[in-house]
Parts: sequence; structure tokens; C-alpha cells
Amino acid sequence: MSGMTPSAASLYDRVQRVIPAIEWPVFSDDIDAILKLKRERNAVILAHNYQTPEIFHCVADIVGDSLALARKAMEVEADVIVLAGVHFMAETAKLLNPAKTVLIPDMRAGCSLADSITPDDIRLLRQRYPGVPVVTYVNTSAAVKAESDICCTSGNAKAVVESLGVPRVLMLPDEYLAQNIAKQTDVEIIAWKGHCEVHERFTPEDIREMRAAHPGVTVLAHPECPPEVVAEADFAGSTAAMSDYVGTKKPSRVVLVTECSMSDNVAVEHPDVEFIRPCNLCPHMKRITLGNIRSALGRNEHAVTIDPAVAARARLAVERMLAV
Ligand code: SF4
Repeated sequence: MSGMTPSAASLYDRVQRVIPAIEWPVFSDDIDAILKLKRERNAVILAHNYQTPEIFHCVADIVGDSLALARKAMEVEADVIVLAGVHFMAETAKLLNPAKTVLIPDMRAGCSLADSITPDDIRLLRQRYPGVPVVTYVNTSAAVKAESDICCTSGNAKAVVESLGVPRVLMLPDEYLAQNIAKQTDVEIIAWKGHCEVHERFTPEDIREMRAAHPGVTVLAHPECPPEVVAEADFAGSTAAMSDYVGTKKPSRVVLVTECSMSDNVAVEHPDVEFIRPCNLCPHMKRITLGNIRSALGRNEHAVTIDPAVAARARLAVERMLAV
């Protein structure tokens, strides 16, 4: 392709199955600029599994689900972390590695789950359920984490709940994750009414239609989906667990019932698997682009800050989770 720099050209090989050649020149200039800025600023880019393939496969240094990103953020030695994901993920990186500059390319990259609960809500719940531990999904603000006993992700929620050794817990804010975990444990789980705006849109009928249209398809669902959707799936797990499933079981046809970009990113690694793609986009994740990653690095924007008193308490809740 004309106009392609050697480094961008070598990167294109990684994504040629999911990015048409005609679109590549739109990305290659930003990719080269970002690679250069990363070197100049001693920066690393952490990208969530829902980022688009040109970010995920071409400029990211560390990729994964929110649990993997949290763990890896702690180990980063570079001066600057750019979080290609949503705001709570950038806050978690800052909590775990406070000496680093953590940038989020668009401050508006929020999350319907994080927005569904406030610190005041948790204080009221504690009055209503005295002594019941509060387990908070990582998809929450630092201020909410600070009011919690321990955090969890969709990958470790069951282990976290059972690690507390108590008969009941409050699990916030994702109602469907709480209901899905409740089916796997004897611990009583009290849920909140938060939902992920991407996963709540899937219905059991969607799954049945996919099975009818694509015979033999293996259905993997994210536990933020309603329990009736998870019941129709062959397997439910975090984005990391879905990715592992595809890698180890090698289904010939698969559908990942989750955010759109996940299928593109996993498909790149598994050319022998046919991916059926139901498409529910996360508008927050999609606020992150190569263009705003480039300007974040170039202009040092937008640095994530957390009140130190809040950060200390929130960090404890995340660290307790990481110790499980
Ligand atoms: S996919 Fe759902 S949980 Fe993830 S950031 Fe978007 S709204 Fe939040």
C-alpha cells in the first residue's frame, strides 16, 4: 500500500483480517505518531478488550480485561500510562500506581454501571444492612470503591464473595452479575439495580435466533448479561475467560455475546474460527480513538487525579481483591 511507513506496514499484517486495506491509510499516520510519542514520553498504553483493533493490536503495550489491566498497571515502570478504556479503569490504574501520570484520552468515556451508584447510596445500604460486607464491582468510581470492603471483577466475583467467609454480602452495582454469581454460590447476594447498557440489550430471543441462523454455533456470554441470556449460552465468563475458551476449545463457529470490538480482537488471534458478530457497541469505549490517544500523549491530557484520602481507602478495596 502506498503512503505506509515501514513500521505501520508491519503492523498492518496483524489486523488485515479485520481492517480493510482501503481504510488503513486513515490509521497509519496516527499509529506512527503514537509509537514515536510513546518513546519520547516513556509511556505505555493499556487497552481494554473492547477497544478497536487498530488501538488494541497496533499501539497498545498491555491488553486485557479490567482485572488484567489493574494487575498490570501496578507493575508499570514507564513514566506515563495512557488508559485506552473508560474512566474508572484510568482511576484504578492511578490508584494502584499513584506516582505515574495516568492519562485518559477522553474524559467523557464513562460507564453506565459506574454512573448507577454513589458513595451516599452505599452509606445508606450499610445502614439498612448493618455488618453485611460490601463487594463492589471494579466498574465504579474511586469514591464508591472507597466506601467498599473489597472490589471484584466479572472474572473473580465468585472467589471474592466466597473469600469473605460470611453468609451474605451486598454486591454492587451490577444486578445481573450479582444474580449470575448468586447461582454459583451458597452465599446470599443482595444486589443493586445497575446495568451495563451494552449487555442488558441482549435477549434470550437473540441467542435463539443466532442458533437458528448459524447451526452449531457455540455461544459465549458475558455475566453482565441478564441471567435469562446467560441460561441460553454454552459458557459465561469475563472477556478474558471468553478469549481463553476460544483459544483452548477452538469451536469452529462462535458468537461472543458482548461488546462488538471483542470479536474483532479475538478473531485476529484465531483465523481458523468463524466469528458470528452480534453488534452492541459501548459508546463510552468508542470515545477513545487513535486521534485522541495521539493528542493525549502530545499535550499531556487528561491527567486523572484522585483525592488522596479517597484514594487510600479505594486502594485498600482493590488491593484486597488482588490478594484473593
Ligand atoms: S461495556 Fe458496559 S460495563 Fe463496559 S464500559 Fe461500557 S457501559 Fe460500562
